[in-house]
Amino acid sequence: MNLEFTAEENAFRDEVRSFIENNYPKHIQGKNMQDEMSREELTAWYKILGEKGWSVPAWPVEYGGTGWTPTERYIWSEENARVNAIMPLPFGVSMVGPVIYTFGNEEQKAKHLPGIRSGDVWWCQGYSEPGAGSDLASLKTTAVRDGDHYIINGQKTWTTLAQHADWGFFLCRTDPDAPKQQQGISFILVDMNTPGIEVRPIKLVDGGHEVNEVWLTDVRVPVENRVGEENKGWTYAKFLLAHERSGIAGVARSKRGVEQLKDIASKEMLDGKPLIEDMGFARKISQLEIDLAALEITELRTLAGEQAGKGPGPESSLLKVKGTEIQQRLTELTLEAVGNYGMPDFRSFPEDGSNDFPIGPDYAHGASSTYFNMRKTSIYGGSNEIQRNIITKMVLGL
Ligand SMILES: Cc1cc2nc3c(=O)[nH]c(=O)nc-3n(C[C@H](O)[C@H](O)[C@H](O)COP(=O)(O)OP(=O)(O)OC[C@H]3O[C@@H](n4cnc5c(N)ncnc54)[C@H](O)[C@@H]3O)c2cc1C
Repeated sequence: MNLEFTAEENAFRDEVRSFIENNYPKHIQGKNMQDEMSREELTAWYKILGEKGWSVPAWPVEYGGTGWTPTERYIWSEENARVNAIMPLPFGVSMVGPVIYTFGNEEQKAKHLPGIRSGDVWWCQGYSEPGAGSDLASLKTTAVRDGDHYIINGQKTWTTLAQHADWGFFLCRTDPDAPKQQQGISFILVDMNTPGIEVRPIKLVDGGHEVNEVWLTDVRVPVENRVGEENKGWTYAKFLLAHERSGIAGVARSKRGVEQLKDIASKEMLDGKPLIEDMGFARKISQLEIDLAALEITELRTLAGEQAGKGPGPESSLLKVKGTEIQQRLTELTLEAVGNYGMPDFRSFPEDGSNDFPIGPDYAHGASSTYFNMRKTSIYGGSNEIQRNIITKMVLGL
């Protein structure tokens, strides 16, 4: 693959850069995904992109995709990462959206795709349960037919940002007697305002509210909300996971993170010299950059494959493992670089208007909370150990 950008691609970069500069909402500038934000803040950029027609670049053009080449999509991610943009949420855009336009019927496409494109409808992912994470196929939430409805009962957990969700996609057991667990599961779209649904927050150690338990008690859902065939939900669930995992790699964002790390390391001092001149630390940064460059090429290959009509398959597990390892190493090195100044939790800092300021340089604030928060990345989307099992079987054929 040729990594030199053409004149057209450079012109495209100029176009998207100036669009971002002129339209990225001022009130969310400088915010990170780790910050506690309102629904309005989390969807502000998403909605602007929806109006522009740029919220779902990877979708087929007939469903609202931009038709950008893999390189253009790559440039798009890089330009957004440059300003640390709060991007459209993945639950609709890169998870349930592709399932609906690939396996859904015409009514489902007409009903759900516009709200995902515009950013008006918030989705959540109801896969994991207290006893079913890595072993997802053992899930126990049931959907029992009652005329033209399903009655759903069970409990989901770790449901990210479900407190804002209008709709959820749930994996439910519809045939408890199927010979294999995977054969008795259906993929059902649920309006989160249906009676019988209770969303309970799981408070994190830093006080954040990022994940929830979702309890379902006698929730009546029309059968027409099932995507595809009854008991074939595992196929759609795996398709979705491949999309989810390739999206977790976050190469553009890590590249920006490395630049910030280098900047920090050139300001922090060790034994009278900038930290970046310390051989040991410089070597760690170089190793990170080498691994990131290798990941970047792998991601570009996957994007090129998608362009050629080959959806992300088990190789997305590779992107997930390497991408999340790099994200975690980046936060470790940042914490190492800022030392003690990284320790205070940014949530404990005084509100605006106080004359009591946090200590240390601005770039150190939040280093420890980001470090701890990013531990999640090797767990969510399917843990990295499980991804290695998938690579072993499906990619290496062992
Ligand atoms: C921040 C966060 C957000 C999440 N958001 C969502 C969400 O929105 N929706 C949703 O449905 N789920 C969500 N999840 C759940 C996530 O997908 C699961 O946590 C993950 O799949 C692991 O499952 P588990 O937590 O049950 O751990 P377990 O499956 O109990 O695993 C525990 C440990 O054992 C290891 N392990 C288990 N089996 C094997 C094996 N066969 N071989 C080797 N090692 C193994 C695992 O790697 C892990 O280290 C989220 C999780 C987190 C942390």
